[in-house]
Amino acid sequence: MTLIDTHLHLETWARKGTLPEVLARARETGVGAMITVGTSSEDWALYRDLAAAHPGVVHFSVGLHPCHVGASWEREVAQLAAFFSRAEPPAPPPPDTATPSFAAGPAAQPYPPQPARDARVAPNQTRPEVTFHPQATEPDFRAVPMPVALGECGLDRFHLPKETAEAEKIFAWQRAAFAAQLTLARDLACPLIVHSRGAFRESVEMIDASGVDWTRVVFHCFSEGPAEIAELNRRGGRGSFTGILTYKSAAPVRDAAKAQGLAHLMVETDAPWLAPVPHRGKPNEPAYVRHTAEFAAQEIFGVSLDEFAAVTTANAKVFFGI
Ligand SMILES: [Zn+2]
Ligand SMILES: [Zn+2]
Repeated sequence: MTLIDTHLHLETWARKGTLPEVLARARETGVGAMITVGTSSEDWALYRDLAAAHPGVVHFSVGLHPCHVGASWEREVAQLAAFFSRAEPPAPPPPDTATPSFAAGPAAQPYPPQPARDARVAPNQTRPEVTFHPQATEPDFRAVPMPVALGECGLDRFHLPKETAEAEKIFAWQRAAFAAQLTLARDLACPLIVHSRGAFRESVEMIDASGVDWTRVVFHCFSEGPAEIAELNRRGGRGSFTGILTYKSAAPVRDAAKAQGLAHLMVETDAPWLAPVPHRGKPNEPAYVRHTAEFAAQEIFGVSLDEFAAVTTANAKVFFGI
């Protein structure tokens, strides 16, 4: 039985130095892999380093979360493309030694030229051209992991300031930052993790207008109802579900999960927030995705935990290419 926590934020534990225990508890509970999701330029490089340190266990994404969108959003979003580029040298060479010289291509190279992902690379995307000095040994690009998705990005009305003019200004920045990231996701043809709170309709309309492939889109921490999930599913998109599924008051969210069906389901913790019952109100961690899985398997889908884990893990692997 292996589960994948498809959305969490490892920053707090990594900075406190307590990540090894958290990863150990996850492993003991049957969580075989997780995706640590980027929210701002403050955590992107950290998450790439964590993915490099825990290959196959920790995957990462990069994106500018709507609650981190400020006046400098444009400068931050401009840094995102480089994380998807394999032509980026890991470090500049020392000044007077014979080291590889990069005839680098453009900053934003196509989405990964890895065998597992080649099938979904659009026809106009080709392997990045990187030329090396003849005597140089080829650097190991596997040491620099690629993000498995762009995001989380989107719109959030819940955390806007009370003052109307200020709130409007910030929401306009959120829209602009989301639009820019949608364009990037379309160009990279990569999976997209959407964060939408209090802005479902606008988020859907912006994705519609962007030309992003809906089959690559997940609305994470889906917390709307069956009508809204039908809107996503009709377009080929999907929602993924947190411990909210286990909350008494969340009947519409359970109905949405059921309406979408097990065949498209992915689970997540969104740790350190949103701990499922029986840890509700306390800090969440990846091991707790098992509580959500056990609850959903039994109470929503009427299947064994083994079957639930097999299907949701396969879904996550296909969706994120991991
Ligand atoms: Zn979110
Ligand atoms: Zn999140």
